[in-house]
Amino acid sequence: MQPSVIETIGNTPLIRLKRASEETGCEIYGKAEFLNPGQSVKDRAGLFIIRDAEKRGLLRPGGVIVEGTAGNTGIGLTVVAKALGYRTVIVIPETQSQEKKDALRVMGAELIEVPAVPYKNPNNYVKLSGRLAEKLAQKEANGAVWANQFDNTANREGHIQTTAQEIWEQTGGKVDGFVAAVGTGGTLAGTGFGLKEKNSGIKIAIADPMGAALYNYYANGELKSEGGSITEGIGQGRITANLDGFQPDFAFQVPDEEALPIVFDLVQEEGLCLGGSSGINIAGAKRLARELGPGHTIVTILCDYGTRYQSKMFNPDFLRSKNLPVPHWMEETPDIEV
Ligand code: PMP
Repeated sequence: MQPSVIETIGNTPLIRLKRASEETGCEIYGKAEFLNPGQSVKDRAGLFIIRDAEKRGLLRPGGVIVEGTAGNTGIGLTVVAKALGYRTVIVIPETQSQEKKDALRVMGAELIEVPAVPYKNPNNYVKLSGRLAEKLAQKEANGAVWANQFDNTANREGHIQTTAQEIWEQTGGKVDGFVAAVGTGGTLAGTGFGLKEKNSGIKIAIADPMGAALYNYYANGELKSEGGSITEGIGQGRITANLDGFQPDFAFQVPDEEALPIVFDLVQEEGLCLGGSSGINIAGAKRLARELGPGHTIVTILCDYGTRYQSKMFNPDFLRSKNLPVPHWMEETPDIEV
C-alpha cells in the first residue's frame, strides 16, 4: 500500500554539499528537510506533538490545535491536523514572510497575525497563543490544545526518535559532528541527544545567528542578545524545555554576511534554493569542520526552501534595505533575443 501524507514525514535524504565539503576537506551533508510535505523540518515536531496530545487524550475528532509560530511549525501542524481531522488556529508575528502566511492560509490554518513584541511582553505571540488555547478549550465542543512547541518536549523527542536515527543509519554510523541553529531547540537538542546515545564522541554544535542570546549563554554563561539577523525561525532568547539538560560541544555565532552568500552560491552552483537558517547551519558546519580538521563527516539541517522567502532574502530591495550585498545574478534580466 502507498503511504499516507503523514507517513511521508521524515526519512529525508542527506545531500552532499559540494563546495562546503571541498573547501574544508570534510564530508558535509545537509538533511533535506524541505522535502517534507509541509516543506520544512517542523513537520516532525508537528507530528510528534499531535500524536502525543492524542495519546494523552487531549484531542477529539474536530478538536483545535493552537500554536504561536514563526510559520513552519504552523504549517507542519496544519498538514498533520488536516490529515487527521483537526483544525489549527495559528498565531504568527506579522513580521514573518508573506509566503509563510500565504502557505498557512492556503493549507487551511485559521491565521491570526499579531504585532511582533519581545517574549517578556504578555502580548508576545507565544504567550498569546497559550492564553487563546485556554479560552478555546472552554468554548470548543471538541476541545482545544496548545501545541507549545518551545516547552513541549514531544518536539525534541521526534528528533531523538527520527532525525538522529536516520542520520546514524544514512552515514552508516560514520558521523563525527552535527550542527544546527535553534528556534525551539527541538532539532539541535533532540538530534544531539539521539546521536550521543549512539556514540558519545560525536560533536554537537550550535550555530546561532549574530547577536542571538544562546551563543552568549553557551560561550560565556550570559543570556544576552544584541544585533540582528534577517533569518526567520531561529534566534532564541531563553533556555526552553527542549534545551533543558543540553550542552553543545561548540558554539558558533554566524553573521548574515557569512550565511547568505552560502545560500546564494548554492542556488547558482548546486541547484539548491534554501532559506536563511540553512545558510547559518551550513556556515556552522564549515566552522565545525575547521575545528575537527579534514577527513570528518559533518551533518546539518536544510530547514526549509528559499521560495518561502522570495519577498525577503531573495528580493534585492529587501537586501539593500538591510545593507546586505545583492548577488549580481538576482538583478540581471536575460540578454536573449526571442
Ligand atoms: N529554521 C527554520 C526555517 C525554522 O522555521 C525553525 C523552527 N522555528 C528552525 C530552523 C529551528 O528549529 P527548532 O525549532 O527545532 O530549533
